[in-house]
Parts: sequence; structure tokens; C-alpha cells
Amino acid sequence: MAGYPAVVSTTPESQRAAAAIPADDVSEHPDVSAGPKSAWAQSTVAVAAGRPPREQGAPLNPPVVLSSTYFSVGKPGPGERVYTRYGTETWDPLEEAIAALEGASRPGLVFASGMAAVAAVMSLVPHGGRIVMPRHTYQVALQLANELTSRSAITVDLVDVADTTSVLAALDAGGRVDLLWLESPTNPMLEVADLAALAVAGRAAGAIVAVDNTFATPLGQRPLALGADVVVHSVTKYLAGHSDVVLGAVVVNDPDLADRVIAYRGTHGAIAGPWEAWLALRGLRTLALRVDRSTTTAQQLAERLSAHPDVLEVRYPGLPDDPGHDRAARQMTGFGSVIALRPRGGLVAAEALASTVRLWVPATSLGGVESSLERRRRFYTESTTVPEDLVRLSVGIEDLEDLWADLDQGLRAAQS
Ligand code: PLP
Repeated sequence: MAGYPAVVSTTPESQRAAAAIPADDVSEHPDVSAGPKSAWAQSTVAVAAGRPPREQGAPLNPPVVLSSTYFSVGKPGPGERVYTRYGTETWDPLEEAIAALEGASRPGLVFASGMAAVAAVMSLVPHGGRIVMPRHTYQVALQLANELTSRSAITVDLVDVADTTSVLAALDAGGRVDLLWLESPTNPMLEVADLAALAVAGRAAGAIVAVDNTFATPLGQRPLALGADVVVHSVTKYLAGHSDVVLGAVVVNDPDLADRVIAYRGTHGAIAGPWEAWLALRGLRTLALRVDRSTTTAQQLAERLSAHPDVLEVRYPGLPDDPGHDRAARQMTGFGSVIALRPRGGLVAAEALASTVRLWVPATSLGGVESSLERRRRFYTESTTVPEDLVRLSVGIEDLEDLWADLDQGLRAAQS
């Protein structure tokens, strides 16, 4: 690939313009070219963003382009397609839609997985740099940060992200911070960070402020508007929403950060496959309906679980007495659809619950249309400060009463 630019900036608009049929051929047709409007509600944006140009006879859905390479002679111009690892038309609509939902000024950047997106952001930390991150962030993001400590001499300070004072103290201690990694609500403890306050403090400490917005989705929270530099998604979860693809995304406003992440993607090569990108966009079209339904159901389940005789503790930011409720109510527009519960009877009851449910799927991952649950400490990699008996529930879109009946019988059976 010698001679090709390391950074190929993907600009869907210019590529569309290049691909459009000559103006003469469309001049007799009515102008149907109005694109997505920034004033539209997010539920509309999820449906309308990333569509092919509104031209007579154009398809409603973007095509899947299956080509590893492109006709190309001589020195490639800016944004010109040369090789799929650097960019392909099939990413563009999804990148445009995710950015529009997050309120970003430039297209998002899709990756082969959420972890590939996390790794791209962590690559921004220089050798010998410092990361401040929540002790209960997604366990594999923690694993990666720990791996970097030995490989790149990076220092990682783990904090209780719900305790703003302790995060500020970590930012103040020991000079420059390169990356403030935030996740809110956290996986799996559902702690809520004060994103706006921490974004200001993180930037003042010289850090890039990144927020993993997987749990909240852009419909529940928009970190860029709260002051973050970077948003990360496991698109695998709510955005794609059907447990059939693994994909990730990074969203930034800053052109320099974008170029660095694009360069990383091109050289490290953890790129999204075209089918996965297309499927994720198809899933994204119903994001608002799915999130609305699963959030409403999660609220009701969390309330019922709080009163269940076989439940010791429930964490859900939508519960008025949850420690994160007031903060979540200030910065979120929806409390999400992940619940953490601890059944009476400890680890044994937690495992029994996972094996006695008949509708809930005992499985890892979350954010699909189907409701699933798992005891998180079954993974040796999960933080030891997560209780052994904590069961994470991902609420899907099934009927509330069916989900409740199954959970209730599972909790009762787990006691015997
Ligand atoms: N971020 C969060 C909050 C997650 O829950 C996960 C996966 O569970 C990831 C990132 C990683 O995403 P992926 O599994 O798509 O690599």
C-alpha cells in the first residue's frame, strides 16, 4: 500500500456528489433532495439519517458494496476510495446516522467491535501516559488498560466514578492526565457519573475526555453536548439491537482527533465488515421504539423487583431512591434498560436464577430485543469489587407481564 495516504477522510456528502448521476439527467424531476434536518427529533433522525440521495428512482436503503478495492490510477486525491480498509461506502450511512444521533459535527467512525473502538481511543494515550477510569467500567476495557500498563508503561488510576470528589482528586494527583475514561451508567454496577463536571475537570487536567455511551444510547444521553471529546459505542448492543452483529463506533467533533483515530483504524485494521454495517443501520432504524419500550418496561420491573421478598438490592437509575437517580435525572433523557439485582441467597441463588428462567435468556451481552441476564462474577476478569451475587438484567421488548412472571418464578425457584 506504499504511496497511499495513511489518513483517508470519509466524507459521505462528497462521495455522494461524486456518485450522483449528472444534473442534466434529473433536471425534469421534482426536487426531492431535502436531507436530514438538525431540528428533527432523534427518533426521526434514527429513521431518516444515512439514506441515499433523494433522487428520482433512487433506492431508499443504501446498497451493500462488496469490494475490497477500487479502480484507482495515480496519486489518490483527498477522500478518494482506494482500498476498503481505509473506507467504504457501506460504512458511510451508519457513520452519518450515529453522528447525527450523538449531535456530532462529523461522521462517526465504525470499527469491527466495541473493543476495537475502545482500543482506538486508548491508542491516543502516549507511551508513559496516564489514564483515569472507573473501577467498574466494562471489564474488558479495564483489561486492555491493564495490558497497556505493562506494554506502554501507562499508569491507570481506578476511581469510583460516582464520587466526583475522588475523581477530581485523581485528576489533580501526579501531573498531566492523558485520558479520562468515563462510562455512565457503569457496567455492571449502574453507577452514574457527573459527566458535565468531570468533562470540565478532565479537560482542565489536559486529558481527552471519552465516554462509553453504550448503556445510555444517544437517546438517553449525549456526552458531546455535556462536554466530552469522544463518545464510544459497542454498536453490538442497543444501536444494532438484535444480537446478530458485533460492531463498534467512535464519535468525535475535533478534526485532529478524528484524523488520529482514522489513521489508527487504517493501520491496525479492525474494520467493520459491510454486511455488519448494513445490518447495524437496519437495526438502528427502530432504535427509538426499542429504547422507549425497553426503558418503560425496565422502570416497572425495577420497581417490582425492589418490593420482591427474594431480592436484597436493586440498582436502576430510574428508581427514585437509587444513589444515581438525581444525577441521572439531570443529565439523561431516559434511564436505560439495564438493571442490576442481588437475590436473597447469594451466589447460589444468583446462579440458580440464571438456570431457572425460561423466557429471559441466560447469556452475556445486552441491548438486544430479547431480555437476557447473567451473573457477572462468573467471569474471572470481572472486578472483584462487583458483588459475587450481582445479576445484570438487560430488558428487551417482550411483554412486561411475561417478563415479570418468568423473573418472579425464577427468583422463587432460586430460593429452594
Ligand atoms: N462497552 C461496554 C459498556 C460494553 O458493555 C461492551 C461489551 O459488552 C463493550 C464496550 C465492548 O463491545 P464489543 O463486545 O462490541 O466489543
